[in-house]
Order: sequence, then structure tokens, then C-alpha cells
Amino acid sequence: MKPAQRPLELSLRLAFYILKNKLRGRKRFPLVTMLEPLEMCNLACVGCGRIREYKPVLNQMMPVDVALNAAQESGAPIVSIAGGEPTIHPKIDEIINSLVEKKYFVYCCTNGLLLERMLKKIPPSKYFCWVIHMDGMEERHDESVARKGVFKKAVQGIEMALSQGYRVCTNTTVFRTSDVEDLWQMFRLVKDLGVEGSMISPGYEFVDAPDQNMFLTRQESHNLFKKLLDPAKTQGMQFYNNPLYLNFLRGERDYQCTAWSNPTYTVMGWRKPCYPLADEHVQDVAELFDAELWEHYGVGRDPRCANCMMHCGFESATIFQAISTPKDWATLIKAGAAHKGGITAA
Ligand code: SF4
Ligand code: SF4
Repeated sequence: MKPAQRPLELSLRLAFYILKNKLRGRKRFPLVTMLEPLEMCNLACVGCGRIREYKPVLNQMMPVDVALNAAQESGAPIVSIAGGEPTIHPKIDEIINSLVEKKYFVYCCTNGLLLERMLKKIPPSKYFCWVIHMDGMEERHDESVARKGVFKKAVQGIEMALSQGYRVCTNTTVFRTSDVEDLWQMFRLVKDLGVEGSMISPGYEFVDAPDQNMFLTRQESHNLFKKLLDPAKTQGMQFYNNPLYLNFLRGERDYQCTAWSNPTYTVMGWRKPCYPLADEHVQDVAELFDAELWEHYGVGRDPRCANCMMHCGFESATIFQAISTPKDWATLIKAGAAHKGGITAA
């Protein structure tokens, strides 16, 4: 099937939103609200920090109005819903349908196990996209999520969602154990199925993950992504991340993290400072944009940031830096117009 295209309105809306905030003189503002309406999951992936970090509150479900208020408080035009497994939340359809009604661009990250029953409750929309977790072909993916049969279910879910007119992307976390050839095969497969694009990011070394050896150092990430994203080998694949972030992953560009652009709201409040780290949870999102806070976090400032190259911290950094670099801005506009990456940071 021909790959779907991301709506041009998304890139235009985000570009306008950035411009508006810049003209208002805001130095730090969100691009994507990361909403985690629960932390419970029906899987226990080896690289997952969330299900372990939030063990004491795994049974808590965020009320619909609290989730909607968080999106409004942040104000970002994109809302990325994760967790935990969002489709377990008993009112996830209400949360998503209300956000879509308000014209947020909503991405729902799921392992795909419960997708079929969700399709009956959430209608397709250009404002809504399923993001299916895919860490490799069958053997590798099932190993990564620690359960057999999940890959097949995820592929069935993608096919079913696409055939019913939904926008669909995939999301891949790359670890030291990832097999480049296997990932190429998977990226080709999902493109042939017709997904809008594949998002990629190296995994963050969550202290709560049971196997600390699986996470890549910065140098290892550069080496692996140089190979994985070799233009000669990536024909027939469609990445969702913007081209500047892909250059960053290959080690061809350097950025400081701008994780304040992806504030993360959980059942305990806003993670402070960022999606990977929660030194505390706070109730006021404005605390995440405080200049003084960011004197203590980022590469070279906190040892826990040394190996972090996650898109929540660095894809937005490529966008913010591009604002003052016309050549880079042109690259993003071009990619956005071609519906390949460009001005999105979901
Ligand atoms: S599917 Fe996602 S939330 Fe669930 S265990 Fe795996 S990584 Fe964690
Ligand atoms: S570099 Fe540090 S502050 Fe930035 S996203 Fe990564 S862990 Fe968070």
C-alpha cells in the first residue's frame, strides 16, 4: 500500500505556533505535551522504566478532565499519549475524542494488543494517529517486549487501522542489542504496509530497567545510527523524525537538550525536569520552563544526561536552533512540505 502522508496542516500550525511564541518573547515553551494517563501496562518490556518507576501508582487512572486540563495548561498543539499502555485506560476514548474535537494533533503510542477494540470507539481523523511500538521483526520484537505473539498482533493492528482509514506510524527504540539488518527489514515492511513513517530514538538508560547493559553510550549511538541510517541502505524506508535529528543521531551535528519543549504529565503530576528524569513531580507546568532549572540539566550539566539522545530532548532542539539558522529552517520546511519529518517533534 502507498504510504500515507502526514497532514500539511500539522507543519503549518506548528510553524505558526512557534512564530507566535517567539514574537511574544517566550524563550522556553512546549511543542508537544506528553500525556501519560496511566502507568499500568499489559506487557513488561525489558527496557521499560515506567512500569517499574511507577509501581506504587500503577492502578491509578487519570480522570478525563484532568488529562484535558493538562493539555490546555501546556498549550502545545501536539499531544502524545503514552504511559503505561493507554488503551487499558477505561476512558481513553473520551480523552482522545475530546482532544481531537479541540483540534490538537494527537498521537497515541500503543503496543497494539488492544487496538481492535479501540478502533470501534475512536473514529479516524486527520488530527489523530496511532503509533505502534515495533522494535524489530518477529523474533527481535517479541524478545524486546518479553512475550511471544506481540509482533503478529501489532502487524495485524497496523493493517486493520490502515484499512479503516486511520493515520498510523510506528515507534522504535534502539538498544545495544538491536540488529541493524533486522530493523531495516522491519522499516521496509511497515512502509510497504502503508504507515506514515517510522519514529526512532535510542533508549534512555532508566535506572529502574532491569538490564542496564542494553543501553547505548553516546558514541555507540553515533556508530549504530551511522550504519542504520546509511542513505544507501535506507531506500524504501520512511522515517518520521526530521532530517536534522537524524543527522544528530549519526553524530554529524551537536545540540544541547531542550526537553522543556516536551513536558510530561503523569498521574503524579508534571515530571521535573523531563520525560526520562523525574527528580520530582510538580503541579504547575510553568516550573518546567524556568531558566534556572536548565542550568542543572542537559549534556555536560548532569551525568545522567551524558548518553541521552532521545527525541523528546533533542528533536525539538533541532527545531529551536533552526529558527536562527535559515539553511536549517529551509531544510525543515522542505521536509515538512514533502511530509517527511520537518517541523514536527512528536
Ligand atoms: S509496552 Fe510500553 S509501557 Fe508497556 S512495558 Fe513496554 S515499553 Fe513499557
Ligand atoms: S539530556 Fe537530560 S534533561 Fe535532556 S532529555 Fe535527556 S535526561 Fe532529560
